Amino acid sequence: MSRFWSPFVKGLVPYVPGEQPKLDNLVKLNTNENPYGPSPKVIEAVRAQLDDSLRLYPAPNADDLKQAIADYHGVASSQVFVGNGSDEVLAHLFNGLFQHGKPVLMPDISYSFYPVYCNLYGIEARALPLDENFRIRVEDYQGENGGIIFPNPNAPTGILLPLDGIEQILKANPDSVVVVDEAYVDFGGESAIALVDSYPNLLVTQTLSKSRSLAGLRVGFAVGHADLIEGLERIKNSFNSYPLDRLAIAGAVAAFEDQAWFEKCCNAVIDSREQLSAALAERGFEVLPSAANFVLARHPERDAGELAASLRERRVIVRHFRQPRIEQHLRITVGTPQQNQALLDALDALL
Ligand code: PMP
Repeated sequence: MSRFWSPFVKGLVPYVPGEQPKLDNLVKLNTNENPYGPSPKVIEAVRAQLDDSLRLYPAPNADDLKQAIADYHGVASSQVFVGNGSDEVLAHLFNGLFQHGKPVLMPDISYSFYPVYCNLYGIEARALPLDENFRIRVEDYQGENGGIIFPNPNAPTGILLPLDGIEQILKANPDSVVVVDEAYVDFGGESAIALVDSYPNLLVTQTLSKSRSLAGLRVGFAVGHADLIEGLERIKNSFNSYPLDRLAIAGAVAAFEDQAWFEKCCNAVIDSREQLSAALAERGFEVLPSAANFVLARHPERDAGELAASLRERRVIVRHFRQPRIEQHLRITVGTPQQNQALLDALDALL
């Protein structure tokens, strides 16, 4: 701590991201990246940017990308906001679309960045417990609040809330912005983007980090009513009017042009997830039903922290959260069939 830190900086509780070690022979199943690479068309498009044009600023509003996202999702480009990963989109919306002074509602087990943003912006985070099966209790999301946010599928549980549950929350909270964080939706969820024209208080965020294998490029976006998007643009333009760099814009546009690659990779991950869930269950794990590219699993007789550490010694990294209710669970990213087998072999040596 420095004596130059303001009381504000002293009060921050920064997010601790998952470990990103160098890959040498590691089976990295800890931060929900896609085990398959991005489309070759994305690599080509990014490479095509590596010339003299780098001396020029990128398009301040990333209009080509907004149009590509709008076309893909069947909305107007005025309904799309883009940012450096959905984390940046979330940062702006916590700042600008949630009513400060009232609690923001979220599930007690969900993306651990939400309370960090609440802390940053001085918002009360009200964490609502999941039910006994780790499901969101829709009926709890009502009463005075400054906004609502939850991942769907939820993270790190992987459990999906069907669209009728989302509609129930939207109807009960017409005066609050309801954010559905769909970072993992392409692995088995149904997108709430279908509802944005019916609910002016709905904002849906998505990312290219997971289903489009572009975590390293940092591209995320939000879709909602044009008025909500305009609010986000005001916030963004008060900081830095270039949301994305030239490489990210070109790569992301190309990602939306290769539907076949996207479907092939998502289907491969979904197949692997089902096989991995079954193989873990055969080994005595209780595995939550996942609609995402990870599974949350618990072995009734083994300490999860010790298991994670022993797997690490065998060069397999999974995520262990020291958080009530899930401290005995492991969150395991779905890898390729070979990576999953390496995990299972390591488990067989330990169990
Ligand atoms: N939401 C959820 C639920 C996530 O798990 C993540 C990834 N850690 C994000 C948002 C942010 O992803 P990105 O910034 O890479 O788009």
